[in-house]
Amino acid sequence: MKVFKNIDQVKHFTSLIKSVGKTVGFVPTMGNLHQGHVSLVERAKKENNIVGVSIFVNPTQFGPSEDYNKYPRTIEADMEKLEKAGCDFVFVPEVDAIYKDGGNSFFVTEKTASTALCGKFRPGHFDGVLTVVAKLFNICHPNRAYFGMKDYQQLVLIRKMSEALNMGVEVVPCTLVRDDDGLAMSSRNSYLSTEDRKKALKINKALKAIKESFEKGNNETDNLKKIGLSVLVPDVSVQYLEILDANDLSSVENASQGCLVAVAGFCGSVRLIDNIIL
Ligand code: AMP
Repeated sequence: MKVFKNIDQVKHFTSLIKSVGKTVGFVPTMGNLHQGHVSLVERAKKENNIVGVSIFVNPTQFGPSEDYNKYPRTIEADMEKLEKAGCDFVFVPEVDAIYKDGGNSFFVTEKTASTALCGKFRPGHFDGVLTVVAKLFNICHPNRAYFGMKDYQQLVLIRKMSEALNMGVEVVPCTLVRDDDGLAMSSRNSYLSTEDRKKALKINKALKAIKESFEKGNNETDNLKKIGLSVLVPDVSVQYLEILDANDLSSVENASQGCLVAVAGFCGSVRLIDNIIL
């Protein structure tokens, strides 16, 4: 497994791969890798000749009161997992290399779907995400990039960005991976106390209760949300629980098959997100 810190070197490597007709699959991450990330690498392995992962804790997607400084950084363990998963190259740039311009001047902004869900509560977050992913795409020029449905809104926005800005990168949605008890895997789960982790299980339970009621014929969004909230409250301090069109995150009058149910909430001081497709 090759490890690149330098932008020109990784650029040269991927362009060489592509010049001989081979495909590059790419998985952007912030590290502290778990099985959710590994599943993306495994999928990319099946569909491409060469697979690369970036590990970069992106400062521009964290708000001033968020956890940029304490975000878990576990580079050695990450490298072992990637080696085992058959990853071909890892790109681990420094912040100064990615943000030579200081990182406060140029941004990629989406103005519609980014205003829903997390966008309402994390101002500037998706500008940071889209900007860094655009940079990573411009550096690695992958044929395909793999994103987890765990971060559903992010996935929608990146797919839209690649299409709207003619980036030519196929954005591949990948299944959300859960722990055995149903909790969606997340690097931030390591912040949870034992007690708060138990409370966090209510999130998946609420989503499943909504889906079950929908499958029995209930399509009233307000009623479905009520059912979810009755499971979540008081263990989870809910930020939002929404039922939306899964393609563009617009509002729907009634729930229908394929709609997205998305939730965000705090267990203790830890903010968690999760979702399910009806
Ligand atoms: P992150 O390191 O949190 O920025 O995530 C990197 C990529 O891994 C994103 O595409 C995430 O959606 C994806 N990911 C994170 N957690 C999971 C999970 N539990 N299941 C599937 N994909 C995930």
